[in-house]
Amino acid sequence: MRKQTNPDHGPRGTVQPLALNVVAGGAGFIGSHLCRALLDRGDSVLCLDTLQTARPSNLRALEGQPRFRFIRHDISQPLPPEVLRLAPRITRVWNLACPASPPHYQRDPEHTMLTNVVGTNHLLRLAETAKARFLLTSTSEVYGDPEIHPQAEDYRGNVSCTGPRACYDEGKRAAEALAFDYARAGRAQVRVARIFNTYGPNMDPSDGRVVSNLICQALRGDELTVCGDGSQTRSFCYVSDMVAGLMALMEAEIDGTEPVNLGNPAELTVNELLGHVIALTGTRAPVVHRPLPVDDPRRRRPDISRARALLDWAPRVALAEGLEATCAWFAEELASEPAAAGAAG
Ligand code: UDP
Repeated sequence: MRKQTNPDHGPRGTVQPLALNVVAGGAGFIGSHLCRALLDRGDSVLCLDTLQTARPSNLRALEGQPRFRFIRHDISQPLPPEVLRLAPRITRVWNLACPASPPHYQRDPEHTMLTNVVGTNHLLRLAETAKARFLLTSTSEVYGDPEIHPQAEDYRGNVSCTGPRACYDEGKRAAEALAFDYARAGRAQVRVARIFNTYGPNMDPSDGRVVSNLICQALRGDELTVCGDGSQTRSFCYVSDMVAGLMALMEAEIDGTEPVNLGNPAELTVNELLGHVIALTGTRAPVVHRPLPVDDPRRRRPDISRARALLDWAPRVALAEGLEATCAWFAEELASEPAAAGAAG
C-alpha cells in the first residue's frame, strides 16, 4: 500500500476508508512495536494506554508519526465518547492492555483482573458496534505450571485460582471465555493469541522480567539475580517475530473460534540464558540466588503447529541475534539514565 501523508484523502481528494486500528496498551513493550508496524503499513492508529507500566519514550517516539493519536485511558473504565464516536471508522481493535510482568500485575491484583475482564468487554463491545475485528493478547500463563510439554492450545492448563498469579492467569482465561462467547454469538470476529515470553527493545528496564533484569544488571555491573536454582525453562521470542505473528493472526481469514499460540519453541533454562548474557556483556558480576516466586512455572515451551498451519508463521530471529540487539538497545537506554538510578527489581 502506498503511504499517504493525509490519512483521509486520496490523490484526487477522494475520501479513502483507511484502516483505523484501536490499540489498547499501544505504549507498552509489544504494543509500541505493533503501533509502529501498523503505521508503517499505512494504517491509522488510535492508541489507548494508562501509561501505568509503559515507558513514556515509547509513546514519544510514536507521537511524532503521522496517522497516530494517543488518548490516556484505562480500559477497565467505560470508553471515552470520543473513541465511541469514531466507531464507524474503526476496522481493527487490538487488546494488549495489561501489565504482564509478575511484580507489576501483582501490585494491584484487583485492577489486573478488572483490566482483563471488564476492559476486554469494553473493547469487545466497541468491536461489535464498529463491526471491527478484535484481537485479544492472551498468554501462555493460561497453561499455569503445565503438566504437558510442550503446550498445545488444546491443553487446558494447571492454573491456581487462589495464588498470587491468579489475577493475571485467571483474568486472561476469563477474557478468552468472553471473547469466544462474542464469537460464538456472532457479535464480533475474534482472534485470540496466546503470547509466550517475548523480549526486545522497548522493554522497561524495571519490568522485572528475567531478560531485562539480567541484561540491565550485567550492563550496570550489579549482582545477577537467578530465582531458584535456575533450572526452570522458558522459550523466548524476539519482539519483531511476535508482532509479525499478531498481524498475521489478525488478518488471517479463519473462523477465529480457537486460540493460537505465538512464541519461539527454542527452550532453555534460566541458567543457560544467564550464560548467554554473561558471554555477550563480559560481566564479572556475581550471581545471587533468590527464592523461586510462588507458582513459578517449571517449564514452558509453545507448540506452534497451529500458527504454522493457519498463519504460515514461525519465528525467524535466533536467540543470539535477538539478545545482541536487545543488549545494544539497553546499553543506549541505560547510558541516558541519571547516574543514581537503582537496579531493575
Ligand atoms: N527470574 C530470574 N531472575 C530474575 C527474574 C526472573 O531467575 O531476575 C526467573 C523467574 O522466576 C522465572 C523466569 O525467570 O522462572 C522467567 O521469569 P519472567 O518474569 O521473565 O517471566 P514469566 O515467569 O512470566 O514467564
